[in-house]
Amino acid sequence: MTLNQLQDSIRTIYGAKDGSRGMEGTFMWFMEEVGELSAALRGGSQEERLLEFADVLAWLATLANIAGIDLELAMQAKYGEGCPGCGQAPCICGSEHKP
Ligand SMILES: [Zn+2]
Repeated sequence: MTLNQLQDSIRTIYGAKDGSRGMEGTFMWFMEEVGELSAALRGGSQEERLLEFADVLAWLATLANIAGIDLELAMQAKYGEGCPGCGQAPCICGSEHKP
């Protein structure tokens, strides 16, 4: 599944609900899922982690849909040529820099 397919799939499944919930409510759900991923990474099974990664990615796609952002274009624009800081792959930025 490509990022475009992910966004299309999420739009098909949840587009109507997402439109009525709006950005702020959707962001709250996204952050709740990030918290659940944190808990799964700390103490969950690999199956639980798999499901929480899927939830976080699905809610991120939902946010992008509401905001009118194409995730594939966004990733290509920022990371398509390697590290946005140094332009290399693998990154050669010093550890004091966050790319
Ligand atoms: Zn770098």
